[in-house]
Amino acid sequence: MAKKDLDWGNLPFGYMKTDKRFVANFKDGAWDKGCMTDDDKVVITECAGVLQYAQTCFEGLKAYETADGRIVTFRPDLNASRMADSCRRLEMPVFPEDKFVQACLDVVKANIDWVPPYGSGATLYLRPYMFGSNAVIGVKPADEYQFRILCTPVGPYFKGGVKPIKVRISDLDRAAPHGTGDIKAGLNYAMSLYNIVDAHKCGYAENIYTDPASHTYIEETGGANILFVTKDGKLVTPKSNSILPSITRRSLVQVAKDYLHIEVEERQVNKNELADFAEIGLCGTAAVISPIGQIDDHGKSIMVPAGMDEIGPVLGKLRETLTGIQMGTVEAPKGWIYEIK
Ligand SMILES: *Cc1c(COP(=O)(O)O)cnc(C)c1O
Repeated sequence: MAKKDLDWGNLPFGYMKTDKRFVANFKDGAWDKGCMTDDDKVVITECAGVLQYAQTCFEGLKAYETADGRIVTFRPDLNASRMADSCRRLEMPVFPEDKFVQACLDVVKANIDWVPPYGSGATLYLRPYMFGSNAVIGVKPADEYQFRILCTPVGPYFKGGVKPIKVRISDLDRAAPHGTGDIKAGLNYAMSLYNIVDAHKCGYAENIYTDPASHTYIEETGGANILFVTKDGKLVTPKSNSILPSITRRSLVQVAKDYLHIEVEERQVNKNELADFAEIGLCGTAAVISPIGQIDDHGKSIMVPAGMDEIGPVLGKLRETLTGIQMGTVEAPKGWIYEIK
């Protein structure tokens, strides 16, 4: 078999149907062993729990071709344990973590020709997800669930290089105090759509959410955690229990400490401090790090010293080191890289 004939350098960040996907069903209190299928269609009752009460959660991770031609994926064990946390919070059955990891590797293997070539900037995005599949009308958890993993090749998040973005401090909330902000639930995204559409209309790439109880401390955007670099070169990440624990952020913190010998602080970040930082960026699987050049806060513009032209030196070095680890050009910490081929 050979790689698919795609214009790898010009793929959008979008969905494309690939050859195989993994499907497992939970019924009568147990998961079946699951299988790989060609069928991209999901057939469920009109009254399925997911359709009525949004009982669904998901994950996102990538597979890469490395510089020396191996096919690898990055820390899928952390996606497995985070999905288990999401499931417990949503009264859904956990798909066993070891089987989750194996199914991710199997999906990549079954779609190996769809893994974009090294150097193209594109990657194979994996989307594990689960939903309540049987009829539910009185409010309660479903009794039956489907777990699937689809994959699709995606282009680089930034075409033509990493460009700083302009964002705004949001008036709306993505998470409630003591709510579901720390799990990867579809419902957290449904309620952010109105606000992101409005942000785009107003010329902003993203919304920064503050803590939902006091609107004083910086939390994250709709789909990425935030990183700050102080003027004396420390990395700061906001601490809050309504932030989604980003695997990219946790990895970058470790890279900062162990590879770049940068001091890291996880602490509350007051929105009044924003003007004091040298560099600010968003992080997540999709873009790794997106630098922020400007933050608008109700008529006041904070111009980040790193500027609107390119990523700052510290975030740039962090991004380069982590992508090097993922692409096999920088030695990875033990256990981070799972080899498929
Ligand atoms: C998925 C997600 C992130 C990023 O997490 P990664 O594991 O780094 O991809 C950040 N914030 C929210 C709200 C998310 O859903």
